Amino acid sequence: MCSQECGKLLPPIPHFATNAIHYAQEPEQWNSKAVVPPITLSTTFKQQVPAKDEERYEYTRFDNPNRRILEKVMSALDGAKYSLAYSSGMAAIMNICHLLKSEETIICTEHVYEGTKELFDKMQEEFNLKVAYVDCTDPKKLEEKIKEYPSTKLVWLESPTNPTLKVIDIKACAEVAHKPREPKCPEKHVWVAVDNSFMSPYFQRPLALGADICMSSATKYMNGHSDVLMGLVSVNKKCLYERLKFLQRTLGAVPSPFDCYMCNRGLKTLHIRMKLHFHNGLAVAKFLESHPCVKKVMYPGLASHCQCEVMKRQCSGVSGIVSFEIQGEECNAYAFLRNLKVFTVGFSVGGYESLAEHPYSMTHQNLPEEDKKRLGITKTLIRLSVGLEDEEDLLADLDQALKAAFA
Ligand SMILES: *Cc1c(COP(=O)(O)O)cnc(C)c1O
Repeated sequence: MCSQECGKLLPPIPHFATNAIHYAQEPEQWNSKAVVPPITLSTTFKQQVPAKDEERYEYTRFDNPNRRILEKVMSALDGAKYSLAYSSGMAAIMNICHLLKSEETIICTEHVYEGTKELFDKMQEEFNLKVAYVDCTDPKKLEEKIKEYPSTKLVWLESPTNPTLKVIDIKACAEVAHKPREPKCPEKHVWVAVDNSFMSPYFQRPLALGADICMSSATKYMNGHSDVLMGLVSVNKKCLYERLKFLQRTLGAVPSPFDCYMCNRGLKTLHIRMKLHFHNGLAVAKFLESHPCVKKVMYPGLASHCQCEVMKRQCSGVSGIVSFEIQGEECNAYAFLRNLKVFTVGFSVGGYESLAEHPYSMTHQNLPEEDKKRLGITKTLIRLSVGLEDEEDLLADLDQALKAAFA
């Protein structure tokens, strides 16, 4: 069988690489004129006069030179007016949750990152927020859910989804969520947030597609080297930014200057890494699709992916996350993972190194059995994060591990 690629995606975003390398990085802002930003560890900054000044630094939880340049360059990459950095992706989501008041509703796509679901469920149990899950791959179902919950304030989307890589039409969902509401609705405006961790702004820009909030776990592709935990949020509306800025300062889940330095550094090669993740991801997906030991491949860059048309409208590329169903049973999935040599078995995605995992017993182990069934998280499902190693080494490793799994 010859695997087909999904076809022409959106063109690359102009000036992306130049912005990633130069935007907000002017050496003139440091006394030393260092080309690489110095790491500023000081928690406090000398005040000339005790007066209010937006631009000046006061205390590092409020703002820090390394965080400021990271937030600025991120806003350029996300095509946003404002960005904010947090100590993890989960801290970013927690801050967004604090935009809501008790009794308000979050409508969340049912294919969602496990940590996000755990946090939302906790907010529902203990902070009196309402949470409703719905399959957002069908915008009509989202529309019905919003009607069912007049207190809807936030719609939470993720595309492609984890771990089955379903694609959500962000523009269609944002249009549905932003439709004028019934006069009896207490909340007139519904915010649409997109978790963009699996794509990075190099391939997908949710704000341009109509979302109000773009959130990323920078732990994944943005930092890209599996050595920093970080969350980033971008918005265009000033009112949202000001509320988030207050929360960032008062909840205090901010990243360290060193982590900001590292992530800012990671962004300099984001475009090169994403191109190679796409190249290697596609090569792996095509290879697996034609392999006799593989039952089914899930990769939004293949023509066989049923939402490939949506990808062509909203993305300029596809990342290196590839999921597949191995033939046989759970023992074959385990044997495959045990036999991998170039791929490392582990959590996370988006680093330069290739990783493999078994969602059923690893990332999604706490999910109830019936949810696993509905979401397609079977005992033979394997998720790969295809890294930047040589394509032929990756394919050879997969081939030998697949053969060994049935030996
Ligand atoms: C990893 C991840 C998160 C959480 O981010 P952390 O940086 O681990 O806190 C949220 N959403 C998605 C899609 C992720 O992959």
